[in-house]
Amino acid sequence: MSRHEFQTEVDQLLKLIIHSLYSHQEIFLRELVSNASDALDKLKYLTLTDDRLKTLSFTPRLDISIDENASTLTLSDNGIGMNEEDLNANLGTIARSGTKNFLSKLSGDAKRDSNLIGQFGVGFYSAFMVASRVDVVTRKAGEEKAWRWTSEGHSNYEIEESQRDSHGTTVVLHLNDDGKEYASSWKIRELVKKYSNHIAFPIFLTYEKTEWEGEGENRKSKKVPTTEQVNEAGALWKRSKTELKDEDYKEFYKSISHDWEDPLLWFHTRAEGTLEYTTLFYIPSKAPMDLFQADYKPGVKLYVKRVFITDDEKELLPTWLRFLRGVIDSEDLPLNVSREILQQNKILSQIKTASVKKLLGELQSLASNDQEKYLKFVGEYNRVLKEGLYSDYANREALLDLVRFKSTKVEGWTSLAQAKDRMQSEQKALYILTGGTEASLRASPLLEVYRKKDIEVLILDDEIDEIVFQGIDKYKDTDLKSINKADVGEDLKDKADEEKEKDLKPLVEKIKKVLGDRVKDVRVSFRLAESPSCIVTGDDDPSVKLQQIMKAMGQKDLPALKPILEINPDHSLVVKLRQLNEGALFDDAAFLLLEQALLIEGVPLESPNTFVARLNRVLDQAV
Ligand code: ADP
Repeated sequence: MSRHEFQTEVDQLLKLIIHSLYSHQEIFLRELVSNASDALDKLKYLTLTDDRLKTLSFTPRLDISIDENASTLTLSDNGIGMNEEDLNANLGTIARSGTKNFLSKLSGDAKRDSNLIGQFGVGFYSAFMVASRVDVVTRKAGEEKAWRWTSEGHSNYEIEESQRDSHGTTVVLHLNDDGKEYASSWKIRELVKKYSNHIAFPIFLTYEKTEWEGEGENRKSKKVPTTEQVNEAGALWKRSKTELKDEDYKEFYKSISHDWEDPLLWFHTRAEGTLEYTTLFYIPSKAPMDLFQADYKPGVKLYVKRVFITDDEKELLPTWLRFLRGVIDSEDLPLNVSREILQQNKILSQIKTASVKKLLGELQSLASNDQEKYLKFVGEYNRVLKEGLYSDYANREALLDLVRFKSTKVEGWTSLAQAKDRMQSEQKALYILTGGTEASLRASPLLEVYRKKDIEVLILDDEIDEIVFQGIDKYKDTDLKSINKADVGEDLKDKADEEKEKDLKPLVEKIKKVLGDRVKDVRVSFRLAESPSCIVTGDDDPSVKLQQIMKAMGQKDLPALKPILEINPDHSLVVKLRQLNEGALFDDAAFLLLEQALLIEGVPLESPNTFVARLNRVLDQAV
């Protein structure tokens, strides 16, 4: 026998489950049934693809049995099973960084944490909510040895060699005081119906049924061992839409997603034509915990003619759709399709393309028909939609219609189509502003002229906006322009502005001389109303924010940031500067015009000391 310590994270998770989930104890059964179902799926697949297991004949099933006297609940599957190494890896550590990340987000506040944990598959360890000890006896398919894992859910577990007639896993829960109520056949029947009715394999319940015999005084009860099937065990997605109720869809969602909230939406599609397949996709009402984790777990399972093939294939759908949960079931793929060839498979890629088209269409009609629900969707998934804009070129048009924006004109969210409808008659493009938090963008001097002319600007405050919108310059036939760029403002210029430009030419030249290679150019601005100056970037240069991101990502050899400085011809400071002779004060003022504009854009100053000395020299003359 060998004794092992749980990895620290497991210990943490165990404590958390026990403390946060006491009002949801019953989900332990769903978790264990789901593990058994996965184990059956995996073995079924291997009997089709693995030469060593092709001869194995097996009828997948899960048996649950109750022993009231011993107060135990036992789940036994004839699935893939585990060897010693698997046991240590699976029931002793947490490999996924998504889980670790989840744990680090916890606050210690039980109420808040239990909300969080609801979106997260707690898995096997939830058994310790209802059991004071858990024994796992398991044998891996194709191997001779069996193993027994046992733990009381404190900081350690033990493993020893054991006996099992055949492959599979038996989990014995020694129920604690809280768990006693689960040693009841009606309770288990109720829970299986509630959480696991649509598990694809039959679940049998074995218990002692009380039967009565005899009449009158001779009437006696006796206990008769009884076994009955307690779930429907069909592929729900193969049934017709008309036959299925909302409740059926929701139940199935919960059984495949570990989520206990209802899904936001689902789309059930049967395609019959050149290709025959069924898809059932769900959108969770809360974005999955690991959505922005590199090792996220994909949520869509692939089946071929109802046989499970894989739940770990990230290429089934475009990456930006990784929040979807559900099933793809193809009639055309060969059953023994190996995972390696899945990625280049033509049929799958056709299913993928068609599924994405269909989904985009459904989302579009949701956006038109049920605003409230659509905004919920946007609240959770706007950012991944933008990722789609960047990575899924073929669907860019459709995605541009689905993404929502903040705006200087309306509260809440707006679409590009709506912003386009609101365009002023003289307005030449749809304007966007990127590169900061919502508050800093809304305060940007770059917005001044647009505000004055009552032109809408869309506020893009997601970190990725910078990169995503760099490559998008049109919405339908309308230009999409970032107002941080030098070129914009040109079409907002009028006659008077051209006069001013001529007038100020000497001043501009003087400032340019003083600032030297700190700037790419100095220009008269047509976009400022209140501020004396602002910086913009050349049309082909990366924006200030993007340069910062590139630097933060360790990109070396970046050319020094050279902005274009624009000065406001109507600002009193600029007007006064025209009168000022060249000299120390003029130089200080020129640099301060540049440095204040950099600060507002969130660019750290190269030398704060020089800036402060300059500011003090100027103040000294003023007070
Ligand atoms: P999850 O199911 O989310 O991966 P769990 O904590 O529930 O997490 O289970 C951890 C792992 O233990 C599973 O991924 C699986 O490899 C293994 N496991 C659990 N139960 C079984 C079982 N009945 N048969 C085979 N393997 C199992």
